[in-house]
Amino acid sequence: MRKIVIAGNWKMFKTQAESSEFLNGFLPHLEDTPSAREVVLCPPFTDLSLLSKSLHGSRVNLGAQNVHWEENGAYTGEIAAPMLTELGVRYVIVGHSERRQYFGETDATVNLRLKAAQKYGLTPILCVGETKQQRDEKKTEKLISNQLEKGLVDVDQTNLVIAYEPIWAIGTGETCEAKEANRVIGLIRSQLTNPNVTIQYGGSVKPNNIDEIMAQPEIDGALVGGASLEADSFAKIVNYQ
Ligand code: PGA
Repeated sequence: MRKIVIAGNWKMFKTQAESSEFLNGFLPHLEDTPSAREVVLCPPFTDLSLLSKSLHGSRVNLGAQNVHWEENGAYTGEIAAPMLTELGVRYVIVGHSERRQYFGETDATVNLRLKAAQKYGLTPILCVGETKQQRDEKKTEKLISNQLEKGLVDVDQTNLVIAYEPIWAIGTGETCEAKEANRVIGLIRSQLTNPNVTIQYGGSVKPNNIDEIMAQPEIDGALVGGASLEADSFAKIVNYQ
């Protein structure tokens, strides 16, 4: 049985005051959410401490948006895994395309971060996906296969979530067709040694497309950016039919 994981990636949005306001609107909606569905919020680092307290006793798991591979050291601007686990963080996004594109993240550093996360008991959410140009040039399969091959060296596939996030669908409102996302996710699964890894789709997931996405047999959840910032819309996504 594969676990269903719906995660909100807040990116660089929300002060502490704004995140409290979000929770007030969001948490009451979770009463009817099927218990087998794992709900995760990945706020900016500065909100983690507050959310850790506010989510105590709720069914929402806390996630971070990145983690360094050393347990401490002279790495200005970075955050280490023990700093996250101390706050009750359970998940961490690794290798998001925005990290790869704007902050020089490579498959090699992604691999280091994945292993560090697992060493401290965090569940990493590894993001993979192609640009529009790579898709047009029919390089999608090769690119993703490369990201997996290099990213997953010595990574424990029993404590791992993967998110297929086509870059051209992120924040654009242009969703990948559910069937096509299902096809690519099937290919990703065929490259894993553990067929039970939870594989999410991410890229313009909204209340009006989540049902179709989750109806696909290979898709085990969603990584949601823009639509996770608003309590009502993220509640609708988490409570998909
Ligand atoms: P989006 O972002 O839902 O705003 O497209 C998804 C992501 O980047 O994880």
